[in-house]
Amino acid sequence: MKKSIKDIDLIGKTVFIRVDFNVPLKNGVIEDDTRIRSAMPTVLYALKSGARVVLASHLGRPIKERKKAEERGENFDSAKFSLRPVFEFIKESAGEFGLSADAVFFSDDCVGPKRSEAVKSLCGGQVLLLENLRFHPEEEKNDAEFAKRLAEGIDIYVNDAFGTAHRAHASTEGITHFVSPCVAGLLMERELEYLGKALENPERPCVAILGGAKVSDKIPVIESLINRRVDKLLIGGAMAYTFLKAEGYTVGKSLVENDLLEKALEIEELARNAGVELILPTDHQVVDSYDPLHSRRAIPIAFTNAGLVGLDIGPETIAIFRRALEGAKTIIWNGPMGMFEEKPFDEGTIAVAEAVAEATDKGAISIVGGGDSVSAVKRAGVDNRISHISTGGGATLEFLAGKTLPGVAALDEK
Ligand code: AMP
Repeated sequence: MKKSIKDIDLIGKTVFIRVDFNVPLKNGVIEDDTRIRSAMPTVLYALKSGARVVLASHLGRPIKERKKAEERGENFDSAKFSLRPVFEFIKESAGEFGLSADAVFFSDDCVGPKRSEAVKSLCGGQVLLLENLRFHPEEEKNDAEFAKRLAEGIDIYVNDAFGTAHRAHASTEGITHFVSPCVAGLLMERELEYLGKALENPERPCVAILGGAKVSDKIPVIESLINRRVDKLLIGGAMAYTFLKAEGYTVGKSLVENDLLEKALEIEELARNAGVELILPTDHQVVDSYDPLHSRRAIPIAFTNAGLVGLDIGPETIAIFRRALEGAKTIIWNGPMGMFEEKPFDEGTIAVAEAVAEATDKGAISIVGGGDSVSAVKRAGVDNRISHISTGGGATLEFLAGKTLPGVAALDEK
């Protein structure tokens, strides 16, 4: 078990908290402040415990975007990647967060002499937000010298950015070689607790639901869940078509990964041998490829002909998935059941979101991860009935695949 911020003494210490403030910005305006709000409990906990707080985050990929702009001969506007709007937002919302606006400061660079001065002059109860870590290419290269500079003047390292913990970057891994102790923030602790229990020691029956477009992205997760013997594995979304085609069904023009047909059969055998019930759709919502706007209808998978495209699971499959979730004690869900961005092809995904919420009301621990399934539970209005909404996309998948996340491995054990 990893040490958390609650396990250490923070009085008078300068604490570096790696947060995830990678928020969507449009013309300098924050379009969704969820990530900032989610980080606040850890920040407030540190402040109330008498710490001086330094916050660091990345925002987008400025170096990559600069390169692209240069290749196109366009000007690159680095201001688009500045964390200053986040600083302004925190200052403006300080009262709401229980902070004092004049206790929040900003440093134009995440390393260097000015930042060192700003860190030194921090008092207990004050917060300094550093500029985007990724303005320095050394961040993503996990450069040791840069990591050492990030650690300057810091007594305690806290990682609360689960979503970037699968990357060994200077602020998630390198820095831990120059600071001690290194602990998990409250958000990170919650992620590790929920995901760790679901994977290592789930209450049964444990049901996993996987969807989305690509089987290839999720093979390690499917194999890991089967090896850990989830009781049922429901597969929806376009990825189901690779399995169905491998079984000999005609899937028309639906999305299929033809190079993975063998692999799909291997996975089915792995599931059979492990006693895992793998459940695929029996019907789907299809459209005619020449008239996608007006031809939506539900048909059995077995009736699919060469001109059809499947874009969502059908009503019978919804009922089967719903039944499979009844009585579940642990539910893990990643990936939409169809092309849910386009109404009405969101019906299957929304119905699954509701079924997961109902099972949670009846006592299941539910974990939803991945941007699409998270937006589906929000769209269905059931997000507050889910036990844990994971903040990581890639990190959640890597964790569920049983991989070691460098940003987690680098934290101290309890
Ligand atoms: P992934 O990134 O693999 O989780 O895939 C998410 C994407 O899969 C979403 O953009 C969905 O629109 C898409 N998707 C899911 N099911 C289907 C389907 N049957 N046909 C086309 N796209 C789908």
